[in-house]
Order: sequence, then C-alpha cells, then structure tokens
Amino acid sequence: MKAYEYLKPGHAQLTDKEKPTITSSTDAIIRIVKTTICGTDLHIIKGDTPEVKSHTTLGHEGIGIIEEIGDNVNNFKVGDKVIISCISSCGKCYYCKKGIYAHCENGGGWILGHLVNGTQAEYVKVPFADNSLYHAPSNLKDDALVMLSDILPTGYEIGVLKGKVKPGCTVAIVGAGPVGLAALLTAQFYSPSKIIMIDLDDNRLETAKELGATHLINSKETETAIKKVKSLNPRGVDVAIEAVGIPQTFDLCQNLIGVDGTIANVGVHGLPVQLDIDKLWIKNINVTTGLVSGNTTEEFRGDGALSQQLLLNGSIKISYFYCICKFSVCLRVFQHLNICIFFRNLQLDLQILFKSKSGRPCLSQLQYIFKGSFFPPFILFYLFIYFYFLR
Ligand code: ZN
Ligand code: ZN
Repeated sequence: MKAYEYLKPGHAQLTDKEKPTITSSTDAIIRIVKTTICGTDLHIIKGDTPEVKSHTTLGHEGIGIIEEIGDNVNNFKVGDKVIISCISSCGKCYYCKKGIYAHCENGGGWILGHLVNGTQAEYVKVPFADNSLYHAPSNLKDDALVMLSDILPTGYEIGVLKGKVKPGCTVAIVGAGPVGLAALLTAQFYSPSKIIMIDLDDNRLETAKELGATHLINSKETETAIKKVKSLNPRGVDVAIEAVGIPQTFDLCQNLIGVDGTIANVGVHGLPVQLDIDKLWIKNINVTTGLVSGNTTEEFRGDGALSQQLLLNGSIKISYFYCICKFSVCLRVFQHLNICIFFRNLQLDLQILFKSKSGRPCLSQLQYIFKGSFFPPFILFYLFIYFYFLR
C-alpha cells in the first residue's frame, strides 16, 4: 500500500509499505477514505518532535471503512464507516476514566502518526478500536467528518473550553489556520462580544471573517497589531487563544491578555517561550495548555447542538479542491491556504493532477509550473489554484 512517511528533519516521502495486520485483539484495520494534513505533521517534518522515528507513517486524522477487527472489538463490525480519533485510548486507565484520553496510560494518547504508523496511508491499524473510533453518521459529508478527528475537537477543547469563553467576553485568536478557525467557529457557541482574529496572511483572515470573526488584524508588525487590539479593548482581552506554536505568537498573547484573562495555548511548540511573569504576576491571569482528548467528538458527531450548528447548517464552508498530487506539494499548499486538504487515493500520487469541481484536469500547466524552483512558481501555483478553483 502507499503511505507517506517521515524520514528525518526536513524530509518525508511517499513509499510502498506492507498493509498493517491485527496484532492485538483490540485492534481494527481501517481502509482510509479521507485523510488530511495537520499542522502537527509540519512540526514533525520540521524536526520539532524528535520522538518520531524514521519511516513512521504520518497522519492522525481520517475517516475510513473497517476491514478487519480483533476478537475483543465489540462496538464495531467489518464494513462500518468510522471517524478515527487522533487520540487512541484504552478507556480503562486512570486518565481515560477522567476523560483525559490524551494521557492514556496503557499505550494510548497521541500515537497515530507519532509513535505508530498513522493515517496518511491506504490502510491504518487503530489500537483500542472500541474507544478510539466513532461511528460516522450518514447525514454528514465526508469533508465535515474528517474535521471531527482532530481539528474541531482541538479548537473547542483546548481553545474554547480551556480558555473559558463566556457570553459577552472578548476573544483574540492568534493563528487563523484550520485549528484557529475551529476555535473561531466553536467560540461562537458562547456568544462572545468580540472575536478578533490575528494572522500574517490576509487570505486566512478573510476566511475568518466569513466564519464569524468580528475583527481582523494582520500581525506582520507586532507592535501595530498590539496597539490595534488595545484600541478595541483598552483592558486587554478576556481570552487569548494561541493557535500557532511559536515564541512570537505566545508572546503576542501575553501582551494582549487583560486582568483575570486566560491564555489558552493550543499551538504545538518546538521551542521554549519566555513567560513574562514580571508583568503578569499581578494580573490574575491563567495559562492553560493541553493536548486534545477528542472526547467532544461524540458531541460533534451526534444529533446535538454542536453538530447541528456547525456541520449540518453549513456554518463550515469548506472551500476545497480535489487534489491528487504529491504529498509534499500539498504540505506546501497547506502552509499557504486556510483549507483542509483531503486525499482520496494515494496511489495516484505519482502524477501531479488537479481537478476542478467540474472534473476538468489541468495536468500540463501544473507540470510546467513545478519544474522550476520553488518560490516564484509557487506564487503562480497559488494564483492558479485561487482563481481556477476557489473563486
Ligand atoms: Zn491534527
Ligand atoms: Zn487509557
């Protein structure tokens, strides 16, 4: 089968691998229907997570069809369509009992695409299947379902819930990538008075506006960005959600937070940050951190308000293009566009082929574009994608 694997810092490749097999009675083998790229995959490829071994298949998000189950899998059967949680959990240990699946003590937690082979492949083995898979409801589209693996629960659990977003409060979200946008969408469950979206990329900010941000601030000039937020909120914001994972963005949150506020760190950090305790000690603030547990996936999946508001009523506007192309190219696209990229068939990876929604292939232009060096052609590529598919 085809799989996209990490090799060493700066390097990852599409390769052929053996299809996974059941090795524990609680395993399930899933044929991937859709998967996507997470910012965390970029951190791994960058080398921020040295515990990832060479030749580990990347990816921890996806939906698929169960091909095979171990003898002790009771909640699912072969042929079931499932959402794969980014967190595997035994459901029995101390932390699983507390609902903190991220810290499962029996070998679960964030292991897919990290400590064991992940979902950016044609097949994946999911351990502790009973507690780590969710039945995919038939009334939700695949594109929406993929977001329930990680993106929506992460923005919600670690950004909105940990940040204690309340009615009438002011929220600043630093980083308008998919998880920042998920925090933006789910923060609106609590009716904050302002949601200020901060990012370096105006395209991402525009999408944030469509999804409900009340104010947009480009942070190319940090001092100016801080002044703009302060002019909107002289007391500082009540909640600052850090959805990037670099020292500068954490620092920005420290500058924006008001008295009694909460900095909810969502970003995956590869470097230490400086905590300005000399300024913050007097401000009664909270700083929260966390890895998603995915225990809210059930709420998004079900018939309740979360699912109705977001996934059925179309609050999530998924702008996407069908993309069957080199994974490495998609990673670059992912860094520049605020879209989720879904992969339908990794076997076709060897050709660079993009299809518009009408199904028109446009192979020749892109082959030409990718022959040159990366930067100027990428601009062309970006414009091409933007005008050809997304307009
Ligand atoms: Zn992820
Ligand atoms: Zn556990």
